Amino acid sequence: MTELPDRRLLLVHAHPDDESINNGATMARYAAEGVHVTLVTCTLGERGEVIPPELGHLNGAALGGHRLGELTDAMRALGITDFRLLGGAGRYCDSGMMGLADNDDPGCFWQADVDQAAGLLAEVVREVRPQVLVTYDDNGGYGHPDHIQAHRVAMRAADLAASSGWEIPKVYWNRVPRSVAEASFKRLHDDLPGLPFAAAATVDDVPGVVPDERITTAIDGTTHAAAKAAAMRAHATQITVAEPYFVLSNELAQPLFTTEYYELVRGERSETRESDLFAGITVGDAS
Ligand SMILES: [Zn+2]
Repeated sequence: MTELPDRRLLLVHAHPDDESINNGATMARYAAEGVHVTLVTCTLGERGEVIPPELGHLNGAALGGHRLGELTDAMRALGITDFRLLGGAGRYCDSGMMGLADNDDPGCFWQADVDQAAGLLAEVVREVRPQVLVTYDDNGGYGHPDHIQAHRVAMRAADLAASSGWEIPKVYWNRVPRSVAEASFKRLHDDLPGLPFAAAATVDDVPGVVPDERITTAIDGTTHAAAKAAAMRAHATQITVAEPYFVLSNELAQPLFTTEYYELVRGERSETRESDLFAGITVGDAS
């Protein structure tokens, strides 16, 4: 097996596009620094709503295949070569929004056996031996079944790997500090008349917003803002970008954050807010 770089980062996401929206600047920064960045996406987002009318006919497996192509383009924009679908493409399908009959599809990720799915992810953990894991909080950031399940599977996989060969030193959840979200939406309301979007979302539409004091880490991705925007644009079925804003299929404008925020939930906390996910990790010792 080829030797991996000293620093290794693993991100676990529910659908293609979540990685670019939440962590695009972080992924581009660490890839540029020579960190081995691994993305595991749990479904192909087969039940996502399609924005471009000319692609509106895509659904199910055809949409999943198309979104895999978008993910591939997004990873090229971020400089990421190691991206995988949990258990292989098509192993788990999108569960749709909470409360829909889609949630009962036996092949969907919401119906997956958590231990079995976590076992598949633990194999990746033992292979890559990341010092840092990034995923969502226990509400999946905003309550989507696949995001909640991605959280459960990621946290369980960390436990399984810890008892079978590799303990991940630091685990983070994606966050946005409330003060940053509120200031960004204030700016958005001022800018809205000049934007190609008719209406704005609200702070409550942003996943992972928490009081500022819960934020342990801020990754300034300003120098990678263009790569993040390019990665988000690659997900054209899901996202329309007009920097520094974007819309999802609900067509409600929201801020595109180029500083990305995290809450450390496992691992040693610093006295002050970290500016590096690998802070405190002694590279070399941990490999
Ligand atoms: Zn998602």
